[in-house]
Amino acid sequence: MKDKERASRIKMIIMDVDGTLTDGSLLILPDGEELTSYNVKDGTGILLARVAGLKTGIITGKTSKSLEKRAEKLKIEEIYQGILDKKKILSKILEENNLDPDQIAYIGDDLGDLEVIKSVGLAGAVADAHPEIKKHSHFICKNAGGKGAVREFIEFILEAQNKWQTIEENFKDFFNKKEQI
Ligand SMILES: [Mg+2]
Repeated sequence: MKDKERASRIKMIIMDVDGTLTDGSLLILPDGEELTSYNVKDGTGILLARVAGLKTGIITGKTSKSLEKRAEKLKIEEIYQGILDKKKILSKILEENNLDPDQIAYIGDDLGDLEVIKSVGLAGAVADAHPEIKKHSHFICKNAGGKGAVREFIEFILEAQNKWQTIEENFKDFFNKKEQI
């Protein structure tokens, strides 16, 4: 099946966080607190997905308060933190949302994502992903993790689904409602 055809079936986009929505760097403050930076382009991409009627989710191995805030702001529907077995969570998400693996897109960067990458309809790898992740992905981003890779992946899906008209018609409303990215 062609990747565009795979993308046209997607109803939910699930993302890894470290190395995918971030560039993988962690700033550790003297008191042990961590600072993470996120890319506004990716944030806009997540908003565009929502404007187009797609659901979004994150599954990450770590647990962080700042991520919770970020996900809340972006209105990401499915948020799973501190997850070691990502595939198990994927099954739970599928069941709860009544979706098939074919309807899920997932983007990641490292070996913890491999099982999920192998089992979804459309798998994406950031430009600096582990070779094994790239090998099993359908779409390999030109941009690295935290540098717009998620935006690129989302736009590929929206393009395949001919969603630009819907987005153009509705995007202003979202901004008028002071949606924050
Ligand atoms: Mg990662």
